[in-house]
Amino acid sequence: MTVKTRFAPSPTGYLHVGGARTALFSWLYARRHAGQFVLRIEDTDLERSTEDSVNAILDSMTWLGLDYDEGPYYQTQRFDRYNEVIDQLLERGQAYRCTCSKERIDRLREEQMANKQKPRYDGHCRGRDVDASLPHVVRFLNPEQGDVTIDDLIRGRIVVANNELDDLIIRRTDGSPTYNLSVVVDDHDMGITHVIRGDDHINNTPRQINMFEAMDWPVPAFGHVPMILGDDGARLSKRHGAVNVMQYQKDGFLPEALLNYLVRLGWSHGDQELFTREEMIELFDLGAVNRSPSAFNTEKLIWVNAQYIKAADPVRLAELVGGFLESDGVPIAGGAPLAHVVDAQRERAGTLVELAQICRFYYEDFGEIDAAAAKKAFKDGAEQALSMVREKLAGLEDWGRAPIHQLIADTVAELGVGFGRVAMPLRVAVTGGAPSPDLDLTLHLVGKTATLRRIDAAIALIQGRT
Ligand code: GLU
Repeated sequence: MTVKTRFAPSPTGYLHVGGARTALFSWLYARRHAGQFVLRIEDTDLERSTEDSVNAILDSMTWLGLDYDEGPYYQTQRFDRYNEVIDQLLERGQAYRCTCSKERIDRLREEQMANKQKPRYDGHCRGRDVDASLPHVVRFLNPEQGDVTIDDLIRGRIVVANNELDDLIIRRTDGSPTYNLSVVVDDHDMGITHVIRGDDHINNTPRQINMFEAMDWPVPAFGHVPMILGDDGARLSKRHGAVNVMQYQKDGFLPEALLNYLVRLGWSHGDQELFTREEMIELFDLGAVNRSPSAFNTEKLIWVNAQYIKAADPVRLAELVGGFLESDGVPIAGGAPLAHVVDAQRERAGTLVELAQICRFYYEDFGEIDAAAAKKAFKDGAEQALSMVREKLAGLEDWGRAPIHQLIADTVAELGVGFGRVAMPLRVAVTGGAPSPDLDLTLHLVGKTATLRRIDAAIALIQGRT
């Protein structure tokens, strides 16, 4: 049997990181078993579904590299098929028309609540001969006896008694099919073997299994992924920070870092933290997914991102960082090659936004030197050290790392002071206090003209001229 899984988002907003993790688990399961992965857009809620959301979901899937073998299918294009199945269920006596008024249903609910019973439809129209020309809904005839057993791939065995389930509406008065029916038809027609989805759907599963059985269709396996919590134990939401997948792109995360973080959220393989895509596919196992919810930890995500930034191809990094710098109007064209700058700075950044920030001083003068850094670096002797090193640098013809390094060493020797007495004021003068790599590399990348100009500005600052 070829494994076939699917991701079935409703396009009523952006793709939430929780949805992305469910998609990832479903995708991994398919890839792990050399199976297929289907994308299905569940856009039957016409009022809440939007094209923008569909696009946001498709963009997020592409950005994360969650490629699908089939789809996107759209449920709104399959209404005829759903109605065909509803008619078959009616013919088979597995569904019935119901003309109960809203008032009756409301009254029933009130009575049940007053008697401390679970509100549920009482089967009033079961077996009644309803005139099909009257306004009506169609209900699925749920079995009254027996149990439904789910051997959930994550949660283990779940048993639900049929008398806990009522007769679900599968077609509304306006003729439109409902969620549970459409999902069953799609999962059957699309040949889905493993339904991996959020555990907010766990109550729907026994009802769906009954519908598969009523149609004599094979029942797929189910795995319900626990939800993601915020740091306060409540369900992860906007209030905890970014939850929109594409926001993470804007905030400077690499897609592979987000995926790596998400796969580890509720799943582990020993104490390994970093997984290549291939490793994830090889090692992922639904049975090892934690049954309880996991808490989203932004610091850990930043740590993972930093590891990927350190390891990424510098040319690709430069392209991404360049995008951030360009949108900030930083003139990168005239300066050192961005791939070199990015390579020199990447160890010091948790996100691409941070990385872009600490790459700026290579291309443009900063406004003011960081006050704390200036206070520390521009002490007694700093002016003399800066003046001497400036003079030497001005005469340096080869602006390579080694000559710069030698020149600083000579200045230190000549002044007879510790290395820091020269290096510290020089570094602060040239970087403004931003984190930076070895001094010779920093100066080399900043360039001669800007270096001299910034030393002059620092001397003026020390002299109180600015
Ligand atoms: N469309 C549903 C949702 O977005 C998912 C349905 C399913 O996976 O069965 O919550």
